[in-house]
Amino acid sequence: MTPTHHPSAVRASGTPAAPGSPRSRRPGLLLVAAVAVLFAVGWITLGPAGFIADARRTVMAGVEAFAAPWPGSVHRAEVEAVANGLLFVPVGALAALALRRRGPVLPVALGAATSVVVELAQTALPGRVPDLADVAANTTGTVLGVAVTSVLRAAARRSRRPGAGRPGRGLVAALLAAPLLLAATAGCSSGGTPAGAAGPPVQGASPSNAMTAENGHVVDGEELSAFADVPALTNLDSALRTAVQDAARDATAGGIRFHVSSGWRSAAYQQALFDAAVQQYGSPEAAREWVLRPDESSHVTGDAVDVGPTDAMSWLSQHGSDYGLCQTYGNEMWHFELAVDRGDQCPAPATDPTAG
Ligand SMILES: [Zn+2]
Repeated sequence: MTPTHHPSAVRASGTPAAPGSPRSRRPGLLLVAAVAVLFAVGWITLGPAGFIADARRTVMAGVEAFAAPWPGSVHRAEVEAVANGLLFVPVGALAALALRRRGPVLPVALGAATSVVVELAQTALPGRVPDLADVAANTTGTVLGVAVTSVLRAAARRSRRPGAGRPGRGLVAALLAAPLLLAATAGCSSGGTPAGAAGPPVQGASPSNAMTAENGHVVDGEELSAFADVPALTNLDSALRTAVQDAARDATAGGIRFHVSSGWRSAAYQQALFDAAVQQYGSPEAAREWVLRPDESSHVTGDAVDVGPTDAMSWLSQHGSDYGLCQTYGNEMWHFELAVDRGDQCPAPATDPTAG
């Protein structure tokens, strides 16, 4: 990322640059751009988890609003992969500019290495979940950035022959603007959504006033960390919350993606879920097989969490008892409660929620 030293850089700092000297200001610009990009990437990937959760929520709401005419077309994981890719396009482009004499492999390797360092750093941060898929997305973005730079540089080389021009100036300026824009966007979206405020409306779900983060609502598909500072987690029974966080830490260390898809829910939110289930299954009796009423649900008392994705469910069904966490309903392999002392054996799950 550091600009290479070459004669024109030295000349630029000493004597006034010759008129039309194409590279006179480039190293300085490159350095500023590199610092800006690294700052933006660092802030977005390693900054406060609450900040990025808010930004992510805002971006998702925007994407979902845009895709509203095509229900079911937006998948959070895919949007996130694209965002992770875009984040590293400036990294690849700048690395390719700084290392322009060394071919494309080194810049791509630098981008991949940056991503690995970020993911490693995330293991130490509460609320951050490192993921190999992020490295893949980041590296893809880096490749894209390197490719764009090569294409633009080739085009600039062609156009400045034979007359002298200022190759790459516009490119560097654009690269400088991109991360700042990204950071500004994230900053604005974060400012617009104060912590604990209502989340965006859920696409496809029945509109309800209870579908807010304050009521414990987790946006469908959001990969909520067990360490997130949201009511769905902070209103859990504290022993349960600690157990889930310990399990999440160990699962993640073992390479398992682990997130919470639901935790504490307000009675109003549980009622909304129940009403929706009655609509879906046709009767309160049928609905109760899947969703309990507010006075019955252990989510409302803060005594249950639902986890995901599937790998996390099966990991927790194997190792949950080490943390006192047990799957309590046979038909809900995602639903766990603090049911035994740590290390004790879990009882067999109930065959259906109405039985327990
Ligand atoms: Zn549950």
